[in-house]
Amino acid sequence: MRALPWIIGGGVAAYALTRRSSRSSITSSETVAPFAGPLPGRWVWPVPRWNGRTPVISDGFNSPRPGLPRHGGVDLMFLRQPSDAYKVGTPNGSKLHVMPDGLPAVAASDGVIWSAMNTPHGWAVVIDHTPRKVATFYTHMEKLLVPETAPGKRGVAVRAGQPLGIIGASPLDAAHLKHVHFEVWLGGPTDRIDPSIVMRAWETVADPNALVARNASLVYRPVGAPGEAYPDWVRALKNKAGVYVIRDAETAEILYVGSSAGRLYDTLTRHFQTWRRWKGFWKGQYAEGHDPGLTYPRDSVEVAVRLTSPAKSLDEEMRLIGRLKPRDNLTGVPALEEAPF
Ligand SMILES: [Zn+2]
Repeated sequence: MRALPWIIGGGVAAYALTRRSSRSSITSSETVAPFAGPLPGRWVWPVPRWNGRTPVISDGFNSPRPGLPRHGGVDLMFLRQPSDAYKVGTPNGSKLHVMPDGLPAVAASDGVIWSAMNTPHGWAVVIDHTPRKVATFYTHMEKLLVPETAPGKRGVAVRAGQPLGIIGASPLDAAHLKHVHFEVWLGGPTDRIDPSIVMRAWETVADPNALVARNASLVYRPVGAPGEAYPDWVRALKNKAGVYVIRDAETAEILYVGSSAGRLYDTLTRHFQTWRRWKGFWKGQYAEGHDPGLTYPRDSVEVAVRLTSPAKSLDEEMRLIGRLKPRDNLTGVPALEEAPF
């Protein structure tokens, strides 16, 4: 509770169990003008783009539920297209909407995890966006991608667009339809607003788990905080060849461009392991043109990756160094034969 003094009513655990019968503020708020925003800070839709498609609201705030209180948030899916193979009535499709397997729900804005726990409706996350008096709530996830956090225990910091969990369905939903249920609270769970009004101004992010196609534009993603497991898309770089670009998350200044002909995961993550900076790893990388010892705090940078064939990784690195002019690469210096230490 200390971390989020304005979340009231016993926290999200009580909330998750009682919300079906405690909608008094929603039902009594119909005379109050809806909050029109905008909310301060950078905000993104909690569902990323999927194959270039932007998510939509498949069920709106305050919609009636037969036999139940009205809907306390918005449900997010993708509009069904004629080419979609997902059958109606499966977890991946309703008549009008679809949701693929394995897509992550992402943090709508920078904040700190206030809770991340399993509930009867699936894995649920609450993010505290302090100092803004805003919290966001995400549920129906089938897997958690941030550390499990008891309500009010100060969890890890997250950035806008960072994956929180894999989108699933509510175990209590007979149709088992996969979607994100998302709420915006301007106080506690009883201070919900209609998210669709503020979401009109929000951008969408690329699917953080999709590896970037060779000729696609560079997509920068956060790599988490020190001590956390790396996101799936970083772990997917094991034994891959390609280039990476590290930039400052606040200023977007390009800091470093690197490459590997087959150890992309190791080469990239060494930049975030300050305790290994003088160990032998970089020595073997010198033939690939790397300068050693450049480490960055994980939570202050974003990384873009482009996969290449092993033979093309160095060419692509040199091309990107020329184009992006990174701050920390030693350009114009011939590749060294040995480490200078
Ligand atoms: Zn919902």
